[in-house]
Amino acid sequence: MKNLRSIALKEAQDRKSPEVSSPSPKISEYFGSHVFDKKKMRDYLSKEVYEKLISSIGYGEILNQEDANQIASAMKTWAMSKGVTHYTHWFQPLTGTTAEKHDSFFEPSGEGAIEKFAGSALVQQEPDASSFPNGGIRNTFEARGYTAWDPSSPAFIMERKAGKTLCIPTVFVAYTGEALDYKAPLLKALAAMDKAAVEVCQYFDKSITKVNASLGIEQEYFLVDLALYNARPDLALTGRALFGHISAKGQQLEDHYFGSIPDRVFTYMVDFENEALKLGIPLKTRHNEVAPSQFECAPIYEEINLAIDHNQLLMDVMEKVALRHNFKVLFHEKPYAGINGSGKHNNWSLITDTGKNLLAPGKTPKNNLMFLTFFVNTIKAVHEHADLLRASISSVSNDHRLGANEAPPAIISIFLGQQLDGILDEIEHSRINKKAKEESGMWLGIPKIPQISLDNTDRNRTSPFAFTGNKFELRAVGSSANSSGAMTVLNTIVADQLVKFKVEVDKLIKKGEKKDVAILTIIKKYIKESKDIRFEGNGYGKEWEDEAAKRGLSNIKTTPKALDALVSEKTTDLFIKTNVFSKRELHARHEILLEEFYKKLQIESRVMGEVVNSQIIPAAISYQNELIKNAQGIKDLGIGEDALATPLALIKEISDHIKGVKTNVDEMLEARKVSNVIEDTREKAIAYDEKVKIYFDTIRYHTDKLEQIINDQIWPLPKFRELLFLNK
Ligand code: ADP
Ligand code: MG
Repeated sequence: MKNLRSIALKEAQDRKSPEVSSPSPKISEYFGSHVFDKKKMRDYLSKEVYEKLISSIGYGEILNQEDANQIASAMKTWAMSKGVTHYTHWFQPLTGTTAEKHDSFFEPSGEGAIEKFAGSALVQQEPDASSFPNGGIRNTFEARGYTAWDPSSPAFIMERKAGKTLCIPTVFVAYTGEALDYKAPLLKALAAMDKAAVEVCQYFDKSITKVNASLGIEQEYFLVDLALYNARPDLALTGRALFGHISAKGQQLEDHYFGSIPDRVFTYMVDFENEALKLGIPLKTRHNEVAPSQFECAPIYEEINLAIDHNQLLMDVMEKVALRHNFKVLFHEKPYAGINGSGKHNNWSLITDTGKNLLAPGKTPKNNLMFLTFFVNTIKAVHEHADLLRASISSVSNDHRLGANEAPPAIISIFLGQQLDGILDEIEHSRINKKAKEESGMWLGIPKIPQISLDNTDRNRTSPFAFTGNKFELRAVGSSANSSGAMTVLNTIVADQLVKFKVEVDKLIKKGEKKDVAILTIIKKYIKESKDIRFEGNGYGKEWEDEAAKRGLSNIKTTPKALDALVSEKTTDLFIKTNVFSKRELHARHEILLEEFYKKLQIESRVMGEVVNSQIIPAAISYQNELIKNAQGIKDLGIGEDALATPLALIKEISDHIKGVKTNVDEMLEARKVSNVIEDTREKAIAYDEKVKIYFDTIRYHTDKLEQIINDQIWPLPKFRELLFLNK
């Protein structure tokens, strides 16, 4: 009898890629063709409304009903000219994916029917789905929620084979006003950042009226053949392989990173990039990653809200296009034990409306005072709220990367590169020299910062938060995460820090200190106070764990405990003060994240039990029966004990592993039962982590041993070597 694996293997081997061609050899000719961008706004709107909309995009000016009507009508006209029939509010609930509920433009009218899209439908919708995660917010007070238009992210057309839909990016909030999504708090954090950063910029340049955070998201992913994926219930239901002996060849030859991209993968990349480019996602880079079948793509950075919308949209597009190529794209942080996992590097900086990158060192010591201000305040903020930043990147899947045997560690630290690290030390220890002239190369006590070569900043790949020339790179974000979680935190803590900075500097100025001296005085103080968070060495090493412990830095390895920082008094004060989250919103989020944590472990544990009982043990028994027949035959032949030794040893070995795996699966089931009745969500999550998850490794040990013994012909699950190397 053929098993699913052998059918899948045959299918995977015979794959042919679909024909893919780009709309034009020039990307600029189709980039953004599916986006209601500024050019289309200008074409379809009156001059007055166009200008209002632009101002609303840049500065949050409120649009009135009439303006909204005109904009909706323009969007509809444009969309219909492209063959669109439906529209949807597109939002990012706390499930981590995106959500849409489509309505058609079509409306019956007196004499027949018309296509209509009113301003009110653009501005607000009520997705009456009460089954999004809400952490108790909507159950307690008000069952409904609504989505509200975010004009700062342009509408776009999602094209499917069967039809096209106009998507309007929105926030998703409860009727009580509390956020139920990722976008609403992000926008609030960005508003706080804008305000705080502009005020600090005023010390240096009065013409700055707006500061945007910018973000470039590098996205790592794995590809696996669809048939093989479907033959693995663990991959299909949990996104990661719960079983599987490591392939004899993995990444040890270091031959995959930046290697030549296999044809079938290349065709897929071109296909999804074309779709993404039409949607205005500025994809720039593609390459092989470290692990076999692992790849990366990266866009050019954008304003943060847009960059995150684009990353969420990109993930959706990548999943859809993958199916056309009979691929499954895996965004899970650790699909395969034993080889590298995937992350989502968040490259972050602050850029003014005058075009200045506040995290780019300047040419002279004098204009480096501004750079140092933002640079050091960021370091200080991360030092102050390291635990919160750690909480913001926590998830059950990211736990396999952070603090496991792979980077980045669960200890939050900052890597600056030798040059800047040295400069901060120098500033810390030198006296402020009010008389030093700039020409001397040492103004006030700030040394000249040499041009930072990227080489110098990017060498240490083991740091969770690294300065890379003109931006910080948060590398600890998981590949499947919505970056908003981490970016809301980062922008809030830096915004809050900038406010504190201004208060301290103003106090000195009031006392009669000169502005520059006051600024440098506070910078020096911050450098000293935040020193412990800076680490230039190897973040993977055991020595760092010891050193970090001595410095008093946290090293929280698992999500349920890391999430405590989300509801601590310090965090609550911070978020209330910056108007990003209310206490109730924070507790709701905490609850949702804990629930997600244990529910995912629950699913993994169930899938494990099912696959062991219904596939692995039966395969082991059937091979064992073959061996028993074989042993019996040998015995009947009467050719001596020697000939019996191997089949008998194998029979015994298989029995031992069957017993091992069965006992552990049964015990795990009992542990689940005990955990399931725990009322408190945090306690339940911890129980799942400490009492249920601990069986995974032992179960896997036995099944992986069986995989190596049992006749390859009857092993039911596609093996790692097949999952990882069959995509050429
Ligand atoms: P790598 O980290 O692999 O060396 P790159 O240097 O190409 O990658 O940069 C990675 C990402 O950082 C890209 O998305 C790029 O657009 C983004 N990036 C570059 N400058 C900035 C900036 N000032 N702010 C935010 N992101 C930036
Ligand atoms: Mg990078």
